[in-house]
Order: sequence, then C-alpha cells, then structure tokens
Amino acid sequence: MTEAGIVVSWTMNADDWQAVARVLDRAGVEAMVAFARGTKAREPVRFAKFFLKAGWVGLPPKSTKPVASLGKPPHCGHPDCDPITRTRESENDRGIRSLDRCPNCHPNAKGHAA
Ligand SMILES: [Zn+2]
Repeated sequence: MTEAGIVVSWTMNADDWQAVARVLDRAGVEAMVAFARGTKAREPVRFAKFFLKAGWVGLPPKSTKPVASLGKPPHCGHPDCDPITRTRESENDRGIRSLDRCPNCHPNAKGHAA
C-alpha cells in the first residue's frame, strides 16, 4: 500500500484487522489498492479503516483464484476457523498475528484426503 503512494494509518482494532485479512485473501491486494486509489474523499484519507468501511469489504473475489469452492470440505466448526476463508488467526510470541490454513478443513491443507 505504501509503495503505491497511499500512506494511511493502520490503527484499527482486532476485528477490523480480521476483516482486512479476509478481504486480502479474497480480493487480493491489487484490488484493494485499486479501490483505495479510486476512492474520492473530501479530505485526505488518513486511516486504512476508511477504505475498509468504504468498500473493501464489498470487493469481488479475484478472478485468478482457482475454483476450489465446489470441492471444499465442510467447515470444521472450530471457533478460530473462519468458515469462508478456512483460515485460523494465530499470534506468535512477539504478538504478531497471522492467518494460517485450517489443518482440518482448508481445501489445500496437508493431510486432507484428495
Ligand atoms: Zn476449519
């Protein structure tokens, strides 16, 4: 984002971060940057949260993504597992959050019967 000339504050709460991560996984960063660039705001946008609320959540899935939804295994029901992206959010010892494929129900998870 910063490389695209868009400098915004990424201060937001955990729920918003999860939403951003989901959009990133679904639509891709290119679509997010394109949307941010195309956004007309009266004042300079200082918070990435603005883009999130303004339209990132409505971005369509990127077309390059392989069509795997038909063969998706059923959601495992784990509370940390996102039923749409099939990823789990984890936090390492430095407090940095990341999304990992769910080992139980992600279509590309290792060990899952093909
Ligand atoms: Zn799962």
